[in-house]
Amino acid sequence: MLIVVPGLLSQIAAVAGFAAALLFILGLKRMSSPVTARSGIVVAGIGMLVAVAAAFLALGEIPDAALPYYQTNILLAVLALVLGTGWAWWSGKRVAITAMPQMVALYNGMGGGAAAAIAAVVLIQGPIPTRLILASTVIGALIGSISLSGSVIAWAKLDGRINGTWRFNGQSLFNGAVFVAALLLGLVIIAVPGIPAAPVLAIIFFAAALVFGVLMTLPIGGADMPVVISLYNAFTGLSVGLEGYAMQNPTLMIAGMVVGSAGTLLTVLMAKAMNRSLFNVLFSNFGGGGGMDESQIAGSQKPADAGDAAIAMRYAQSVVIVPGYGLAVAQAQQKLYELVKMLQAADVEVKFAVHPVAGRMPGHMNVLLAEAGVPYDIIFDMEEINEEFANVDVALVIGANDVVNPAARSDKGSPIYGMPILNVDHARQAYVIKRGKGKGYAGVENLLFYADNCNLVYGDAQAVLVQMIQALKDLGGSTHAKAA
Ligand code: NDP
Repeated sequence: MLIVVPGLLSQIAAVAGFAAALLFILGLKRMSSPVTARSGIVVAGIGMLVAVAAAFLALGEIPDAALPYYQTNILLAVLALVLGTGWAWWSGKRVAITAMPQMVALYNGMGGGAAAAIAAVVLIQGPIPTRLILASTVIGALIGSISLSGSVIAWAKLDGRINGTWRFNGQSLFNGAVFVAALLLGLVIIAVPGIPAAPVLAIIFFAAALVFGVLMTLPIGGADMPVVISLYNAFTGLSVGLEGYAMQNPTLMIAGMVVGSAGTLLTVLMAKAMNRSLFNVLFSNFGGGGGMDESQIAGSQKPADAGDAAIAMRYAQSVVIVPGYGLAVAQAQQKLYELVKMLQAADVEVKFAVHPVAGRMPGHMNVLLAEAGVPYDIIFDMEEINEEFANVDVALVIGANDVVNPAARSDKGSPIYGMPILNVDHARQAYVIKRGKGKGYAGVENLLFYADNCNLVYGDAQAVLVQMIQALKDLGGSTHAKAA
């Protein structure tokens, strides 16, 4: 039985909601630096706990007459919380670090789905007090549904369950027609009094929005997925914010706005990093389908021994390391830092060059390097370090492919054409650690691997790094001999 104290509980709930919103903002602020990111996640998590507690607290003032109805809902909410928390805890603990990007895509989609579900209940149950609230509900439903189905497709692509891209002639027009249909249905729901309670119309509206999310994501591929993933992140935030307005819940509004604006900023940054406009990513034929102009390939791939590559680095003045997705697959970040420390002890200047879309999620490489304890002052973003490659003795590429592919500069038919790349090919000597002839995410051949100044060290990154460390140990001493 809930204890009813008129006025007091809702006041406490309002203060708790405000505190939760502040915790979200503080958490996000802390996530902006790798040094404080871990605590940022904890702070935001506590914020979420406070927000949930506030929602239950506010229920303490329900009039007695309405209690039976709410008791069923509270029971369902508690059940959903228990099941959701249990599943998230279990899957979060078990997920392989390489599967983290797809998990993030899925959770993001669930946020959009939750917002759309709130909208569905509001629309079907009604009554909705004002036209503005109705509009907010409908727009939030549209965006949330697109985010849900689009994120599920993004998850399937990242997880390798859907390979390549799915295209047909007139696709943009068809997609546009589905979107306009969903939009028009939404407008009808907003404009015609009494319609909000019409379940059939609402169901068709939701179905159109969900289908559009699928259609919009299927053709996107190649290297453009990061932009789409961050776009859906922004969509989820926006839809949650709009549904927060519909429910007149300031905590939801603030949380949604925080996620929406952070996601929008990330989308802009990702699109900039890919040298694409958002329109280009969503509606052009970039990012997939295209192959590579094989005539550009000259020469052959030249294998090198791990020990020889290590010795070349040991006697270099400057080494720049480019981490990529393969580093995450091999979980070789600790070994990599061990190698770096040995090179530094031998007076070699070592820097890391991180491409904004390296790996499979924004910030993937920064997370890996932070986990290994690599100091932040030797980690550089692409624009900070790219000009330096021409003066670098050795560039060591570990499990990166697309982000160092010079075809992005020259091959107009390539799915990565136009994407800025790290100028590894400008270094005096490049070594690339990879297991074999596997291609990158965009599925194209890499011109760097055939360049005169590039050698491939074949093997799993972890195993190769162990061999490199051993070679340096065998060499002994730390006296530095400058490269000629
Ligand atoms: P890529 O996916 O282009 O290449 C990874 C390379 O790592 C492969 O060529 C593979 O070759 C090698 N590799 C895999 N496992 C190992 C291992 N255990 N040891 C050594 N090497 C290994 O990675 P990049 O980081 O260069 O590029 C990221 C790509 O992913 C871009 O196209 C980007 O757009 C896309 N993407 C990025 C997202 C993001 O948010 N960052 C999200 C979605 C997509 P081999 O098999 O021969 O070993």
